[in-house]
Amino acid sequence: MSQENEHVQCLIIGSGPAGYTAAIYAARADLKPIMYTGMQAGGQLTQTTDVENFPGYPQGIMGPEMMEDFRKQAERFGTDIRFGYISSVDFSSTPHKIVVDEIKTITADTVIIATGATAKWLGLPSEQQYNGFGVSACAVCDGFFFKGQDVAIVGAGDTAAEEATYLAKLCKTVHLLVRRDEFRASKTMVARVLATPNIVVHYNTETQEILGNGKNVTAVKVINNQSNEVSEIAVEGFFVAIGHKPNTDIFKGQLDMDETGYLNTKPGSTLTNIEGVFACGDVQDMYYRQAVTAAGSGCMAALDAERYLAAKEHPVEA
Ligand code: NDP
Repeated sequence: MSQENEHVQCLIIGSGPAGYTAAIYAARADLKPIMYTGMQAGGQLTQTTDVENFPGYPQGIMGPEMMEDFRKQAERFGTDIRFGYISSVDFSSTPHKIVVDEIKTITADTVIIATGATAKWLGLPSEQQYNGFGVSACAVCDGFFFKGQDVAIVGAGDTAAEEATYLAKLCKTVHLLVRRDEFRASKTMVARVLATPNIVVHYNTETQEILGNGKNVTAVKVINNQSNEVSEIAVEGFFVAIGHKPNTDIFKGQLDMDETGYLNTKPGSTLTNIEGVFACGDVQDMYYRQAVTAAGSGCMAALDAERYLAAKEHPVEA
C-alpha cells in the first residue's frame, strides 16, 4: 500500500453548492484549497433537471450545467479539484489527517466539510426511471413544474406535511400517502395539512409502483396495507419526503452531531466542535436544504477558515 503525504492549508470535502462556494472564496483568499469531490461530483443537483430558484439564472438552468459553472468558477481561482473520496479522518490533533481513497494521507490546517445529505428513496425501479421526469425528492425545487396538476407525496413527517402544504398552493390536488394510520409530524403541521381542502390524506397506504408512459409519470399504484386493496391514483408528479441521511459516517466519534447524524455547528457560524474544522451545506442543515442556502454557508465556511488561519498566524495579545 503506497503512502504519499501532502500538506494543505485548506481541504474541502464535497462538491455541491456549499463545497464549490467555499472553494471560490478560499481560493480567492489565497488559501490554495484542494477539493475532493466525493463519488458524486457536483452533488445532489447533478440528479435534477431544471433549477429555477437559484438567483442569477433568469431563464433557469439544468442542475448538472449549473454545477459545471460552479466548478469552472472554483477552478478559475486556482482550486485544485480532485476526484476521490475521503475514507477516514483523524481530527484528534493538528494538523488534521485525512485519508483519501484509503491510500493517501493529507494533513490540513483547516478542513471544510460539505459532504451534503442524501435523500432517502423508496427503492422502486420506477422511482429511478422517472427521477427528474415527474419524480422528485424536493417539493420546493420542483413543485412549480406541476402547477395546476395532480401530484402525490409519500411520507408522514414534518417534511412531508410541510411539502404537501407547499404543493397544495400550486397544485390542483395533493395526495398524501401515509403508510401508518397516523402521522409522525408535529400536531401543528398535521392540523395544517388536515385544514387544507385540496390535500387528500390516504392512510395505511404504501406505494407499489410509479406508473408512466415511458417519458413522464401518469399515476401511482398503491396498496392499502389493511384491506390489501390495490388502486391507481392519476398524478403527474410524485414526491418522496421520507427523510434525508446526512453523509457523516466517517466523522462519527470525532465531530458532534445530532441523533440523526447532522453535524452540529456553533449558531451563526460554520464552526464544529473541533478547531479548524468547519461544516457547511446540507450536512449541517436539516431545515432549509436549498442550493442557495448551501452556497451561502459555503461562503461562511471559507471566511471562518480564513479568519481561523489569520488568528493563528497573528494571535492577538491578551
Ligand atoms: P422523519 O424521519 O421525521 O419522517 C420520515 C417519514 O417518512 C415518517 O413519517 C416515516 O413513516 C415515513 N417513511 C419512511 N420510510 C418510508 C417508506 N419506505 N414508505 C413510506 N413512508 C416512509 O423525516 P422528515 O424529513 O420529515 O423530518 C426530519 C427532521 O426534520 C424531523 O426532526 C423533523 O421534525 C424536522 N423538520 C422540521 C420542520 C419544521 O419544523 N418546520 C420541517 C421539516 C423537517 P413512519 O412515521 O411510519 O415511520
